[in-house]
Amino acid sequence: MENILHVYNTISKRKEIFQPLRPPFVGMYVCGPTVYGDGHLGHARPAITFDLVFRYLQHLGYKVRYVRNITDVGHLENDADDGEDKIAKKARLEQLEPMEVAQYFTDRYHLNMDQLNVKRPSIEPLASGHIIEHIEMIKKILEKEFAYVINGSVYFDVKKYNDAYAYGKLSGRILEDLLSNTRVLEGQDEKHNSYDFALWKKAQPEHIMRWPSPWSDGFPGWHAECSAMSAKYLGNHFDIHGGGMDLLFPHHESEIAQSQIANNCEPCKYWMHNNMITINGQKMGKSLGNFITLNDFFTGKHPSLEKAYSPMCIRFFILQAHYRSTLDFSNEALLAAEKGLKRLMQGIETLQKITSSATSSSDISKLSANCYEAMNDDFNSPIVIANLFEGLRIINAVNDGKESISAIDLESLKNLYTTFVFEILGLTNETENNQFEIMDGLMQMVLSFRQQAKTNKDYATSDNIRNELTKLGIVVKDGKDGSAWSLE
Ligand code: ZN
Repeated sequence: MENILHVYNTISKRKEIFQPLRPPFVGMYVCGPTVYGDGHLGHARPAITFDLVFRYLQHLGYKVRYVRNITDVGHLENDADDGEDKIAKKARLEQLEPMEVAQYFTDRYHLNMDQLNVKRPSIEPLASGHIIEHIEMIKKILEKEFAYVINGSVYFDVKKYNDAYAYGKLSGRILEDLLSNTRVLEGQDEKHNSYDFALWKKAQPEHIMRWPSPWSDGFPGWHAECSAMSAKYLGNHFDIHGGGMDLLFPHHESEIAQSQIANNCEPCKYWMHNNMITINGQKMGKSLGNFITLNDFFTGKHPSLEKAYSPMCIRFFILQAHYRSTLDFSNEALLAAEKGLKRLMQGIETLQKITSSATSSSDISKLSANCYEAMNDDFNSPIVIANLFEGLRIINAVNDGKESISAIDLESLKNLYTTFVFEILGLTNETENNQFEIMDGLMQMVLSFRQQAKTNKDYATSDNIRNELTKLGIVVKDGKDGSAWSLE
């Protein structure tokens, strides 16, 4: 079958025919997390969205080099050029070395992504490991006079860039709007214009994440990191650049400007952005009290969750919406996803049991063609899922003796489910392999024994249980409402 893949290009606001290089090699760069806190839904959606793209392109036979960075330095608190480095702040509060914070949350991020069955990218570069590349890129921009140095920091001259090229292609913003909307901190801003952004920041004396450079001991700007790392591993002009819609401006807009000046071209052919997630119709945020981590979902330990939801339930829920649509999380919606996923897995189990007849009463090849057509239409996973549910109707009808299926069609139907459910959508059958549920069940049992020992004032036993669990890498936290467990 000929596959003509269409992707929605955020920059042109149209679906475009995906034209890879020949031989079929695809370079994809996705902005990864800043590692200063536990993984949440805002991390899960882009990871799952681009995992779907990665898996489908590989399925079609492309050789994909998928680069997703870890931001371990330079992401300042207010997402602009002021405030403390997010990781350095956490390190200060916890009295840790910043790299300890970055490593700790990177490990936890990896664990969450493994639970969600998100494939590891081909390369996962750290910003702190590419300081030389950042400095080289900044030098090129300075040579072309699209940046200036002030007090040891280097800033990109957005006004000058805008006069030569159009700044705001991705977000559709224009410079005049930016000027009126940018908050100017009086007396603190050393930039020529408030919308200029830092390529290199001079480190304050108390700032411990610092490297030598021609301009000062300091650290690279957040936007500069992605441009330097994507060019290093994928070349100056690669295929797909992805990320969440919240990165469109200023992060990706600034990446375009940097690449245009440093490398004389835009960084990529296609920009893909996944839409945002809301919780009960509200934006997710720490101040709103609806900030739910992935571990909260998996254990159900958050006041706004009625129960625990498995990693596959979260994955299935995310894939039920097209990546460009907004997605609202609620207990009702998650319960519906859980039910749907269970039906799908039960249908696959039934599929292994049904027997073939001489003829088929349904068109299986049409079903398969529909799934490919949906994926080729900008990775439309909800349409794929709808077709898989249509297939369930056929499976159940054959099982009930109301419809028939030929041997060849039965083989292709089995193939279709293996390919789309497990390989492309990346779902796993948790009822078959529900290690997490078994572990949680066992842990609840162990914790109840420990609670019993405590009630009986048998502290030797309760401490012993806790110590043994610690040796296994399981942390027990005692709270007002009982004890909770988590992996270290
Ligand atoms: Zn980035």
